[in-house]
Amino acid sequence: MTLDGRSEPSSPEFEAILFDLFGTLVPTGSQAARRANLEEMGRALEVDVGAFADRWFATFDERARGRFGNLEETIERLARELGGDPTPRQIESAARARLDYARALLRAGRRSLVPLDALRSAGPRLGVVSDTSEDTVRIWPTSELASRFDVAAFSCDLGIRKPDPEIYRVAVERLGVRADRVAYVGDGGSHELTGAEAFGLSAFQYVFPEPTEDAYRIDREPDWSGPRLGDLAELLKRLTRPP
Ligand SMILES: [Mg+2]
Repeated sequence: MTLDGRSEPSSPEFEAILFDLFGTLVPTGSQAARRANLEEMGRALEVDVGAFADRWFATFDERARGRFGNLEETIERLARELGGDPTPRQIESAARARLDYARALLRAGRRSLVPLDALRSAGPRLGVVSDTSEDTVRIWPTSELASRFDVAAFSCDLGIRKPDPEIYRVAVERLGVRADRVAYVGDGGSHELTGAEAFGLSAFQYVFPEPTEDAYRIDREPDWSGPRLGDLAELLKRLTRPP
């Protein structure tokens, strides 16, 4: 209501929107494609390629918390665990394969650019909150997506993963808005939607359309009963509260 008692036509419901990255703004990639990439890395390192891929998948938590250091340090550690003795050149070659794959995933999220630009021009601040390892953080600034966002919070930088309330707190603090004026959009990996709701954000499920049934998703929320978006453009309608 205004001071003279008239109703506002509408008021902004959300001053900011936080997005998950993989499976939401960009594909997660299929498990088969991820394994093929890891096997390529294993070949460069001259270790058992299947064991290297298994170990990489099994250490997601440590890698996403930054516990193994940067990409090259992670590669060397896992190769040595498997009995390898990689040269700097082999490590560099494996790292390049990983970065190329990660870059391709971010590029494959181009369909998100149009709805993100529409949201930006509607006014809310935008942020990304991602459980990810250091390779993504390294290529993020070079992706077309990065310029659309005001803030980013990456698990490996912070040493914490969703649904830890601290990762949402850091992102909201960087946005500089109140938590109850923030929407959270994600596919549901890492139990991020219930975590966001518990922190006081308004969570929406949106799953990036992938051309595969074999998408790589971690700790997803199949029983999410909150709101779902069929399309990122639907967010525009949610930005304002009806009068
Ligand atoms: Mg996700």
